Amino acid sequence: MKKKIVLALGGNALGEGLAEQMQAVKTTARAIVDLIEHGHQVVVTHGNGPQVGMINQAFEAAAKTEAHTPLLPMSVCVALSQGYIGYDLQNALREELLDRHIDKPVATLITQVIVDGNDPAFKNPTKPIGSFFSAAEARLLVQNGYNMKEDAGRGYRRVVASPQPVDIVEKETVRAMMAAGQVVITVGGGGIPVIREGHHLKGASAVIDKDWASAKLAEMIDADMLIILTAVEKVAINFGKPNQQWLEKLSVADAQRFIAEEHFAKGSMLPKVEAAVVFAESKPGRQALITVLNKAQLGIEGKTGTVISL
Ligand code: ADP
Ligand code: MG
Repeated sequence: MKKKIVLALGGNALGEGLAEQMQAVKTTARAIVDLIEHGHQVVVTHGNGPQVGMINQAFEAAAKTEAHTPLLPMSVCVALSQGYIGYDLQNALREELLDRHIDKPVATLITQVIVDGNDPAFKNPTKPIGSFFSAAEARLLVQNGYNMKEDAGRGYRRVVASPQPVDIVEKETVRAMMAAGQVVITVGGGGIPVIREGHHLKGASAVIDKDWASAKLAEMIDADMLIILTAVEKVAINFGKPNQQWLEKLSVADAQRFIAEEHFAKGSMLPKVEAAVVFAESKPGRQALITVLNKAQLGIEGKTGTVISL
């Protein structure tokens, strides 16, 4: 019953803003250490929406008032968010482990994820990031190589692509840390998106969905289970409608049918179910679990959550 698990944390595990995050990681650390106490081997991944937004906006604001401050490439924003979130998370985990007399080193790995420069997502960047700019400011930014899109009459915003993860550059390091019994926090915010150019890894103007990147990681480290922790205990069909139905066990085939029938909202539940399907169908016996943060162990025992398998 002891499993190798990739645990993907959603926005509710980290909160929004500095004070909230510092508090939220304590509850999150308790949930993670519960699994470690049960004997599971855990690799932790996480989202970064609010944090990467905050970092990007701070530099945008500085660039508007201080001519010498550059706008940060998206890849650098993601790198900063991995460091900031990892710092809070690894310290909360360390403290919780020490409190329970568990001797396990914890570290955050700055992680790059290869994307394909020819990914169709780059032809049509859709993910808005950061604050609003006037038409004149936007024109200047376009000249400097940024993609800008008008957003519902409110002004121009920077948009980035959301390509598929192809490979994880630091995967051998993740494996080595796991083999040494250490807890590793990796592919934060979906990983720093990079494009391979010979030996050089070039930062891409993109954000990778953390659920997709976590599924890729789970495949690469040969995990038994991908657990996606979010704000709902189960996945539903007809979500929010009178005929809403919570799902407990879900086959890959049914999941694919429900995806086609558009039961899962784009940008929230859809990437989770897609990631669950990708992992579950990658090898017989692999399971994905989608549930809420404090129910992870119950979910592993099959007592709650939505379990996706072949
Ligand atoms: P996270 O930060 O964990 O990635 P998201 O907000 O992106 O969280 O996605 C989780 C949310 O997806 C849930 O809180 C829920 O409101 C929403 N959601 C959309 N469609 C569904 C569905 N079919 N079943 C369950 N939840 C859904
Ligand atoms: Mg999400």
